[in-house]
Amino acid sequence: MNIILLGPPGAGKGTQAQRLVDERDMIQLSTGDMLRAAKDSGTEMGNRAAEVMARGDLVSDDIVIGLIREKLEAGGSGFIFDGFPRTLAQADALGELLEDVGQTLDTVIEMRVEDDVLVDRIVNRAEEAKAAGKPVRADDNAESLKVRLLAYYKQTSPLVGYYHAKGVLTGVDGLGSIDQVGMDIAAILDAD
Ligand code: AMP
Repeated sequence: MNIILLGPPGAGKGTQAQRLVDERDMIQLSTGDMLRAAKDSGTEMGNRAAEVMARGDLVSDDIVIGLIREKLEAGGSGFIFDGFPRTLAQADALGELLEDVGQTLDTVIEMRVEDDVLVDRIVNRAEEAKAAGKPVRADDNAESLKVRLLAYYKQTSPLVGYYHAKGVLTGVDGLGSIDQVGMDIAAILDAD
Protein backbone atom coordinates (compact mmCIF):
# COMPACT_ATOMS: atom_id res chain seq x y z
CA MET A 1 0.00 0.00 0.00
CA ASN A 2 1.36 3.41 -1.00
CA ILE A 3 -0.03 6.58 0.51
CA ILE A 4 0.43 10.34 0.50
CA LEU A 5 0.21 12.46 3.65
CA LEU A 6 -0.97 15.84 2.40
CA GLY A 7 -1.21 18.95 4.53
CA PRO A 8 0.32 22.31 5.37
CA PRO A 9 3.58 22.75 7.31
CA GLY A 10 3.03 21.79 10.93
CA ALA A 11 0.07 19.51 10.18
CA GLY A 12 1.94 16.53 11.65
CA LYS A 13 2.84 14.67 8.44
CA GLY A 14 6.34 13.75 9.61
CA THR A 15 5.14 12.62 13.05
CA GLN A 16 2.45 10.38 11.61
CA ALA A 17 4.75 9.05 8.89
CA GLN A 18 7.22 8.01 11.59
CA ARG A 19 4.45 6.15 13.43
CA LEU A 20 3.52 4.25 10.30
CA VAL A 21 7.17 3.32 9.77
CA ASP A 22 7.35 1.96 13.34
CA GLU A 23 3.98 0.24 13.40
CA ARG A 24 3.53 -0.98 9.85
CA ASP A 25 7.01 -1.26 8.47
CA MET A 26 6.24 1.27 5.77
CA ILE A 27 8.92 3.40 4.07
CA GLN A 28 8.86 7.17 4.66
CA LEU A 29 9.86 9.26 1.66
CA SER A 30 10.20 12.84 2.87
CA THR A 31 11.58 15.18 0.20
CA GLY A 32 12.23 17.77 2.95
CA ASP A 33 14.48 15.27 4.78
CA MET A 34 16.21 14.31 1.53
CA LEU A 35 16.89 17.96 0.69
CA ARG A 36 18.24 18.67 4.20
CA ALA A 37 20.48 15.59 3.90
CA ALA A 38 21.75 16.88 0.53
CA LYS A 39 22.60 20.18 2.19
CA ASP A 40 24.36 18.48 5.11
CA SER A 41 26.48 16.41 2.75
CA GLY A 42 27.46 19.64 0.99
CA THR A 43 26.35 18.76 -2.54
CA GLU A 44 25.90 21.66 -4.95
CA MET A 45 22.21 20.82 -5.32
CA GLY A 46 21.86 20.70 -1.54
CA ASN A 47 23.42 24.11 -1.11
CA ARG A 48 21.27 25.67 -3.81
CA ALA A 49 18.11 24.09 -2.40
CA ALA A 50 19.00 25.27 1.12
CA GLU A 51 18.66 28.93 0.14
CA VAL A 52 15.22 28.37 -1.36
CA MET A 53 14.14 26.31 1.66
CA ALA A 54 15.32 28.89 4.18
CA ARG A 55 13.11 31.47 2.44
CA GLY A 56 10.17 29.07 2.59
CA ASP A 57 9.73 28.75 -1.17
CA LEU A 58 9.43 25.48 -3.06
CA VAL A 59 12.46 23.81 -4.60
CA SER A 60 12.12 23.10 -8.34
CA ASP A 61 9.96 20.22 -9.49
CA ASP A 62 12.86 18.62 -11.41
CA ILE A 63 14.97 18.27 -8.28
CA VAL A 64 12.33 16.72 -6.04
CA ILE A 65 10.95 14.46 -8.78
CA GLY A 66 14.52 13.23 -9.38
CA LEU A 67 14.92 12.44 -5.67
CA ILE A 68 11.68 10.44 -5.59
CA ARG A 69 12.45 8.67 -8.86
CA GLU A 70 15.74 7.40 -7.42
CA LYS A 71 13.97 5.96 -4.36
CA LEU A 72 11.17 4.30 -6.33
CA GLU A 73 13.56 2.78 -8.85
CA ALA A 74 15.50 1.22 -5.97
CA GLY A 75 12.44 -1.00 -5.35
CA GLY A 76 10.19 -1.80 -2.43
CA SER A 77 6.63 -0.88 -1.61
CA GLY A 78 4.64 0.50 1.28
CA PHE A 79 5.72 4.06 0.61
CA ILE A 80 4.53 7.05 2.61
CA PHE A 81 5.01 10.20 0.58
CA ASP A 82 5.55 12.95 3.15
CA GLY A 83 5.77 16.48 1.76
CA PHE A 84 5.64 15.21 -1.82
CA PRO A 85 3.95 15.98 -4.16
CA ARG A 86 3.59 19.71 -3.55
CA THR A 87 2.60 20.85 -7.05
CA LEU A 88 0.33 19.52 -9.77
CA ALA A 89 3.38 18.80 -11.94
CA GLN A 90 4.83 16.69 -9.12
CA ALA A 91 1.51 14.88 -8.71
CA ASP A 92 1.42 14.00 -12.41
CA ALA A 93 5.05 12.88 -12.28
CA LEU A 94 4.36 10.68 -9.25
CA GLY A 95 1.51 8.96 -11.09
CA GLU A 96 3.83 8.19 -14.00
CA LEU A 97 6.71 7.05 -11.78
CA LEU A 98 4.46 4.67 -9.85
CA GLU A 99 3.11 3.26 -13.09
CA ASP A 100 6.65 2.77 -14.41
CA VAL A 101 7.58 0.66 -11.38
CA GLY A 102 4.29 -1.26 -11.40
CA GLN A 103 2.87 0.35 -8.25
CA THR A 104 -0.33 2.18 -7.46
CA LEU A 105 -1.30 5.06 -5.22
CA ASP A 106 -3.86 3.74 -2.76
CA THR A 107 -4.85 6.62 -0.51
CA VAL A 108 -4.20 10.31 -0.04
CA ILE A 109 -4.80 11.47 3.51
CA GLU A 110 -5.36 15.18 3.89
CA MET A 111 -4.43 16.35 7.39
CA ARG A 112 -6.58 19.39 8.16
CA VAL A 113 -5.32 21.93 10.68
CA GLU A 114 -6.13 25.62 11.07
CA ASP A 115 -3.46 28.21 10.37
CA ASP A 116 -3.27 29.57 13.94
CA VAL A 117 -2.47 26.11 15.24
CA LEU A 118 0.16 25.54 12.54
CA VAL A 119 1.96 28.72 13.49
CA ASP A 120 1.88 27.79 17.20
CA ARG A 121 3.13 24.27 16.52
CA ILE A 122 6.04 25.42 14.42
CA VAL A 123 7.06 28.18 16.79
CA ASN A 124 6.93 25.62 19.65
CA ARG A 125 8.94 23.10 17.63
CA ALA A 126 11.67 25.70 17.17
CA GLU A 127 11.63 26.66 20.86
CA GLU A 128 11.77 23.03 22.01
CA ALA A 129 14.67 22.30 19.69
CA LYS A 130 16.52 25.36 20.97
CA ALA A 131 15.89 24.43 24.62
CA ALA A 132 17.14 20.88 23.99
CA GLY A 133 20.28 22.20 22.33
CA LYS A 134 19.20 20.72 18.98
CA PRO A 135 19.59 22.58 15.69
CA VAL A 136 16.57 24.72 14.79
CA ARG A 137 15.38 24.39 11.20
CA ALA A 138 16.37 27.46 9.18
CA ASP A 139 12.77 27.76 7.96
CA ASP A 140 11.07 27.42 11.36
CA ASN A 141 10.69 31.16 11.93
CA ALA A 142 7.73 33.49 11.52
CA GLU A 143 8.95 35.07 8.28
CA SER A 144 9.68 31.81 6.41
CA LEU A 145 6.54 30.27 7.80
CA LYS A 146 4.43 32.95 6.13
CA VAL A 147 6.02 32.08 2.78
CA ARG A 148 5.61 28.33 3.43
CA LEU A 149 1.92 28.72 4.21
CA LEU A 150 1.39 30.83 1.12
CA ALA A 151 3.22 28.23 -0.99
CA TYR A 152 0.93 25.58 0.48
CA TYR A 153 -2.27 27.43 -0.38
CA LYS A 154 -1.11 28.58 -3.81
CA GLN A 155 0.75 25.55 -5.09
CA THR A 156 -0.11 22.50 -2.99
CA SER A 157 -3.74 22.87 -1.92
CA PRO A 158 -5.00 22.34 -5.52
CA LEU A 159 -3.89 18.73 -5.00
CA VAL A 160 -6.86 18.28 -2.66
CA GLY A 161 -9.22 18.71 -5.62
CA TYR A 162 -6.92 16.72 -7.91
CA TYR A 163 -6.92 13.65 -5.68
CA HIS A 164 -10.57 14.04 -4.75
CA ALA A 165 -11.38 13.85 -8.47
CA LYS A 166 -9.31 10.67 -8.69
CA GLY A 167 -11.37 9.19 -5.85
CA VAL A 168 -8.46 8.55 -3.50
CA LEU A 169 -8.74 11.45 -1.04
CA THR A 170 -9.76 11.10 2.62
CA GLY A 171 -9.52 13.85 5.22
CA VAL A 172 -8.58 13.57 8.88
CA ASP A 173 -8.90 16.17 11.59
CA GLY A 174 -5.28 16.99 12.34
CA LEU A 175 -6.12 18.94 15.49
CA GLY A 176 -6.39 15.93 17.82
CA SER A 177 -3.62 14.35 19.86
CA ILE A 178 -0.88 12.44 18.04
CA ASP A 179 -2.54 9.18 19.17
CA GLN A 180 -5.99 10.25 18.04
CA VAL A 181 -4.82 11.33 14.60
CA GLY A 182 -2.80 8.09 14.40
CA MET A 183 -5.92 6.05 15.14
CA ASP A 184 -7.93 7.94 12.52
CA ILE A 185 -5.24 7.25 9.93
CA ALA A 186 -5.04 3.58 10.94
CA ALA A 187 -8.81 3.26 10.48
CA ILE A 188 -8.54 4.66 6.95
CA LEU A 189 -5.70 2.32 6.01
CA ASP A 190 -7.41 -0.72 7.49
CA ALA A 191 -10.67 0.06 5.69
CA ASP A 192 -8.91 0.16 2.33
P1 AMP B 1 9.29 19.91 4.79
O1 AMP B 1 10.38 19.24 5.56
O2 AMP B 1 8.37 18.96 4.08
O3 AMP B 1 8.54 20.94 5.60
O4 AMP B 1 10.01 20.74 3.62
C1 AMP B 1 10.90 21.78 3.90
C2 AMP B 1 11.19 22.58 2.64
O5 AMP B 1 11.80 21.75 1.66
C3 AMP B 1 9.96 23.16 1.95
O6 AMP B 1 9.53 24.37 2.52
C4 AMP B 1 10.50 23.35 0.53
O7 AMP B 1 11.38 24.46 0.46
C5 AMP B 1 11.37 22.10 0.35
N1 AMP B 1 10.58 20.98 -0.17
C6 AMP B 1 10.30 19.81 0.47
N2 AMP B 1 9.56 19.00 -0.30
C7 AMP B 1 9.35 19.68 -1.46
C8 AMP B 1 8.62 19.40 -2.65
N3 AMP B 1 7.95 18.24 -2.81
N4 AMP B 1 8.62 20.34 -3.63
C9 AMP B 1 9.30 21.49 -3.49
N5 AMP B 1 9.98 21.84 -2.39
C10 AMP B 1 10.01 20.94 -1.38
